[in-house]
Amino acid sequence: MRRAVCPGSFDPVTNGHLDIVGRASRLFDEVIIGVLINQSKTGLFTIEERLEMLREATAEYGNVRVASFHGLLVDFCRSQGAAVVVKGLRAVSDFDYELQMAQMNIGLSGVETLFMPTNPLYSFLSSSLVKDVVKWGGDASAYLPDNVLDRLVGRLKQN
Ligand code: ADP
Repeated sequence: MRRAVCPGSFDPVTNGHLDIVGRASRLFDEVIIGVLINQSKTGLFTIEERLEMLREATAEYGNVRVASFHGLLVDFCRSQGAAVVVKGLRAVSDFDYELQMAQMNIGLSGVETLFMPTNPLYSFLSSSLVKDVVKWGGDASAYLPDNVLDRLVGRLKQN
């Protein structure tokens, strides 16, 4: 079975992430979304909340699973039986860092990284930017799935 991992923080998942996951799901038998547990960075949403929003937002895909991991991405890939990492590239600015990681990962364990160009509709989109937009009352409905928009509005109202 050909499996791919789409890794990231997903705090929260945006339509940019979903575009990449959806396209990857048509190329692979199974796609595993790996939510990185980063102990040195507290997010707006807990890991459980991020997983839940991802599960809801990807429910329509029959071959997408969601899991969390900490430590090395290549170890997570091995544990999932995935030989490929799929990453979206938004702009040249993403490329430098992504290239370093891809080269390190293939050196560490032979895991391949495939880069997918972002849908131009989402090339400027990031989780942090949508959080700012919603925080200041802007309309982010074009950039987030409905379940995430509702939660984000609710969460930022509390803060
Ligand atoms: P990180 O925690 O790596 O900063 P995110 O959780 O925001 O990243 O995103 C995870 C991955 O999803 C990114 O490394 C990138 O490959 C992809 N991604 C994020 N936003 C977009 C977007 N707007 N369009 C395409 N791909 C994206």
